[in-house]
Amino acid sequence: MTLKTGSCLCGARAYEIDGEIDAVWICHCSLCRKASGANGNAILIVPRHQFRWVRGEDQGVTYAPRETYTITRCKTCGTPLPAEADEANIYVTAGTLDTPLGRGVRTHLFCASRADWDRDEDDVRYFEARSTGEA
Ligand SMILES: [Zn+2]
Ligand SMILES: [Zn+2]
Repeated sequence: MTLKTGSCLCGARAYEIDGEIDAVWICHCSLCRKASGANGNAILIVPRHQFRWVRGEDQGVTYAPRETYTITRCKTCGTPLPAEADEANIYVTAGTLDTPLGRGVRTHLFCASRADWDRDEDDVRYFEARSTGEA
């Protein structure tokens, strides 16, 4: 049985996932773009019995900008955290994983809402770290 761990930026809140889970889902809808401040939310859909908090259960703050759309963040550092609104599954923010997932992205949702900048330019540049050359 593989164990994956994750945490927020300040480390106050942390979790574990038991066993294999599906590859990453990215939602590009306008709500996820606003909530993430980026090109969308990258999510792991984890059955509840495979997920547990190991630290900081009182560290989450949940916002409900829409009746059917909630966001949970660490109250100390603001990191978007796994969401518990669904009865069957936890929606884990993929960027909070501390261990490799071993899988890539399989599903893109709301592609019609994708930001027009959510693509590489022909002359896209990749740096191993910062573009200043520092590690
Ligand atoms: Zn935090
Ligand atoms: Zn979305």
